[in-house]
Amino acid sequence: MSRVAVIGAGTMGNGIAHVFAQNGWQTLLIDVSPESLKKGKATIEKNTERQVGKGTLTEDQRHALLGRITTSSKLEMLKGLDDIELVVEAATENPEVKFQIFEDLDRITPAGAVLASNTSSISISEIAKQTNRPERVLGMHFMNPVPVMKLVEIIKGRGTGDGVVARVVEITKALGKTPVIVTDAPGFVSNRVLMPMINEAIFCVQDGIATPEGVDAVMKLGMNHPIGPLALADLIGLDVCLAIMNVLQDGLDQRKYRPAPLLEEMVAAGKLGRKSGAGFYVYRD
Ligand code: NAD
Repeated sequence: MSRVAVIGAGTMGNGIAHVFAQNGWQTLLIDVSPESLKKGKATIEKNTERQVGKGTLTEDQRHALLGRITTSSKLEMLKGLDDIELVVEAATENPEVKFQIFEDLDRITPAGAVLASNTSSISISEIAKQTNRPERVLGMHFMNPVPVMKLVEIIKGRGTGDGVVARVVEITKALGKTPVIVTDAPGFVSNRVLMPMINEAIFCVQDGIATPEGVDAVMKLGMNHPIGPLALADLIGLDVCLAIMNVLQDGLDQRKYRPAPLLEEMVAAGKLGRKSGAGFYVYRD
């Protein structure tokens, strides 16, 4: 039986672990923060309960799914597990954090394991450079919320092997998702198109052109978006949005991709969106 390890149990990591476990994978969910692990596991329990309520999962299936997930706060627990086929890293969007994780993963996981990153914007080729197996490193960019969204952007780094891409495409389809292969470039396709729109929506609020509700209403009712850009920013996490804008700015164009000062202020004030309870909107769980 193949195993997957998911690194990071936050917004994305718990959803990724949920989807793998639902599809029969023994899933190790690892996070340095015991608090995040607890919260991540609770989110999976709550979301699977909702699936049972909707009739898309039976109580037995839910029980089996939860039984396939093991949690740990130590990356080193992967040492010696020779049946790990894939690792999906979904830790904080910070190059230093990810580089260290990939260096460690390269040291402790079996040489044949594929190392994927769920990064929204950091160069896959740079991440791959931290390892001695760049041909087995690629991006597996799940969308939020993971159990619901169909797309997985598969990012091919400079050194990624074609056979590895083909295997990850196969795995993605077996998870019930639709893979789209893109070449490594800042923001890939999804965030290169989405984030400047979100950033521009923030400028509209900052410049007093409309309230967050007003901006979101324009995009929902006028452009048929299912969710407004500011509600989406809150869902993604404003810190993640800012990190992505910084990567676009550094990698593409200083002026065009300048993060809105209001975004920077909100992140500095700890207003990160849903996960912190407040962003452009207030959340009470
Ligand atoms: P998050 O802040 O919700 O969770 C990140 C988790 O990583 C935290 O629980 C933190 O404790 C953990 N972590 C930090 N350092 C770690 C380490 N060294 N080892 C193990 N765990 C560590 O962030 P998120 O929104 O889940 O984002 C995770 C990744 O997914 C980022 O790369 C982000 O860009 C990407 N992503 C996010 C979204 C989104 O909508 N939020 C969508 C697609 C991709």
